[in-house]
Amino acid sequence: MPEFIKSENTSWEVLSDRVAIKATDLSSLKYNEIRITNEVKDFFSLEHMARHERREVFLHFQGTPYPCAVYLDSFEKGRGKMRWGKKFRSVFSGMVSGYFFDGSDSPSVPLLRFYKWDALNYEISLIFVREIIDHTVEVDDRTLAPWEHYRLIEENFMWRIEAMKHHGTACAICGFDYSKTYGDAGKGRMKIHLKRAMSDKDFLPDPEKDLLPVCANCHELLHEGLEEQELRSIVQMHREMQKGRMPRGSRND
Ligand SMILES: [Zn+2]
Ligand SMILES: [Zn+2]
Repeated sequence: MPEFIKSENTSWEVLSDRVAIKATDLSSLKYNEIRITNEVKDFFSLEHMARHERREVFLHFQGTPYPCAVYLDSFEKGRGKMRWGKKFRSVFSGMVSGYFFDGSDSPSVPLLRFYKWDALNYEISLIFVREIIDHTVEVDDRTLAPWEHYRLIEENFMWRIEAMKHHGTACAICGFDYSKTYGDAGKGRMKIHLKRAMSDKDFLPDPEKDLLPVCANCHELLHEGLEEQELRSIVQMHREMQKGRMPRGSRND
């Protein structure tokens, strides 16, 4: 199993000034908080905090804001914690407790993805590593024609995980979120799309530039030749048309 999905790996991975990833761990489940270590003290804007300051922030999960607090537990070392309240606790433990109490030795725990909107608002999503692995069908490169080599990337669980770490867990075209809609049955179902042609089968993509998490519907349309931007504007246009439609019987004329 790759190093980064072991549950005992508690460190942060900072991908940019907007995105940071952390594996869920038992202590966050027990104590309703996560440690803000040196790697992420800028990400969580700890630098100007006073010794006993407690900053109220929001964790946004599947469209709902949950109040949390960021505070310093070691002013000298500049380390802190983010502690969440009762509401997020019940959502969080419902989503992740099963991974720690299922009796297996090294469960591949979900990764927490933080997307920073600003110092007071973080969007949080869960990357379900175990389910992504379960739903990935391995392809045999000996049976692939050269024009099918893209499947070596698109159907590889490591690249799926990398794509979601960089771009989030919802469809990058239409915003569809499998686990929000289907619950447990939807975990790990997101597809990924390789945006460029492969020069050879050993090509390694740049997850930020070359990969996109997409739902099965958008993926099919991309493979039919529709462009990413074109699809996004189609989705946007239809949403606006639907919003603008007056409900029947609401007009007097
Ligand atoms: Zn989609
Ligand atoms: Zn594709």
